[in-house]
Formats: sequence, C-alpha cells, structure tokens
Amino acid sequence: MAAGKTDATAIPYLKDAPPRVFDIHVHYPWRPDASSNFSPQQQADILAHTCRRLNIVKACLLGRRNDGWQPTLEAWRRYPDLFVPLAQVSLDEDGPEAVERLREQGFRGLKITMPQRNYDDPAYFPTYATAERLGLAILFHTGIRGGAVDFLLFPPRDARQAEAASERLEQMSAGSTASGARMQPIYLDTVGMAFPRLRIIGAHMGYGLYDTAAAVARWRRNVFFDISGGAVVRRHIVERSMIYREVHPGKLLFGSDCDFVHTSREVTAWMEAFAAMDMPRDDQDRIFYRNAAELFGEQ
Ligand SMILES: [Zn+2]
Repeated sequence: MAAGKTDATAIPYLKDAPPRVFDIHVHYPWRPDASSNFSPQQQADILAHTCRRLNIVKACLLGRRNDGWQPTLEAWRRYPDLFVPLAQVSLDEDGPEAVERLREQGFRGLKITMPQRNYDDPAYFPTYATAERLGLAILFHTGIRGGAVDFLLFPPRDARQAEAASERLEQMSAGSTASGARMQPIYLDTVGMAFPRLRIIGAHMGYGLYDTAAAVARWRRNVFFDISGGAVVRRHIVERSMIYREVHPGKLLFGSDCDFVHTSREVTAWMEAFAAMDMPRDDQDRIFYRNAAELFGEQ
C-alpha cells in the first residue's frame, strides 16, 4: 500500500452492508460546488474509504468531460482494483475517434446524457458501432433530467430563491433541443436492436417512463437499467411492484448517483426495500453486484 493511500480492499465482515456491492453510477470528480478544497487525490481517497466501509468493491467513475477525464484516470491508477473508469462524452461533439482514444487510455465505458437529437438518431450510430467493436459499455441517462431545484421534495422558499438557484443550469440549456424528450428509454430499443452486442445501461429505470424501460429490458438481451435516482425513483419502483412483475432482477444494477456523503443512505434504503419485498439473497446479490460484474467482465 502506497504511503497515505487508503486500503481499498474489502473489510472481511460488515454487519450493516450487503456482502458485496458494485456501484455503477458515481460521478467523478465531485461537482465544483461540492468539492470544497479537496484535491483530486483526497477525493479519490475519501471515495475509496466510503466504498470500503460499505462493501462497495467496484465503482464505475463517470469522468467529467470538461477536465479532459484526467482526474478519473488518476483515481483509477491509484485504486485500479476498485474503480472502473467510464468517460462522460458528448454525442454531438465526440465521435468515433474520441471513443477510440478513450479506450486506449483505459476507459471501460461511456456515460452519455443531454444529446441534441434522440438517442437513436442514425447520426450517433458510428459512435455506438465503435463502442460495440471496442467492448465499451454505455450508460445512458434515461428519463427526465433533474434540475437545480426539486419542486416536489425540497420546494424553494420563494420565486426569487428558485430563480437564483436555477440560473446557472438554465443558462446552459437555453435555446437547446436537449431534454428528457431526447433521452426516452424507448430509444434504447432501437440502439439495442441496431447494436445487439453493445452493452447498454439506462440510468434511473427511465425516470418517469418506467413501463417503457421495463418492456425494453424484458425483450432486448443487452439492455439493462440502473435503479439510481434516490427516494423518488425508489418509491416508484417499489410501490408499483416493478421488480418481478415488470422487470427481472437480472436486468437491474445498483447505482448511487449521489454525493459520497449520501452513498450509505442509498445502500441502506435499497437493502431495506429488498428486505421488505422478501427478495431472495441471491437476487439481491445480482442487483447489488453480480449483474454489473458480469457486464464489466469483473468476475
Ligand atoms: Zn448521474
């Protein structure tokens, strides 16, 4: 173990976490407003410590595009057994050559969100074909995209606070065609049929469009969904009895998709939800670990 580096190996026995977890949805590095003064190295160490404490033995880092993906590669080199590097790319700006370069650098998959056209637009097919040929998985955001303000669970004090909190993100999307409408899970049906060997993960079970997501997962061999999205997505999946009735546990993957301080909440809440639905341990292990391990060839 290098000096100062947190040991990323699993703790032999933990009573308050699943036996093993593969978290496929960890944005990295932290958002600028959440990172305070932590250096990239400190962020990697804190994340590794968090993982170790929760039996997260593998975590996909979704590397941010604007920093050239370098911090993600550095974190992966520091914890090669723990982190699986994925690169967030722009379908409209990064083409097949960029994907090839990312593979050469060591990336194992891509994260895609907010395209200008629908996910199944043929303009994107060369990028998908390259990912399929190189064995890169693609994690697609699916469904409505969260904004700066949660008007359901955390409504702002007043209109002025709402406007101030929304300003930055609204400026980024103003005048663009990008939105949840371009990212519907039905488009993964097209992509799954056009590229049958491409491993496809839709994030958040299609947030807001669950029935379509479940139907696509049912019939397309290489289309999976992650169950990230926090309390609201969890409640929708649980209250609608989606698991078993609409979608098989073999098609679902655990993802936290949150600030590291909330990772334990996500793990615990899903443990409790699975227990409440009397899910057999083997199926829990599929969702928490094995499906992702198979998908990324980590078994
Ligand atoms: Zn995310």
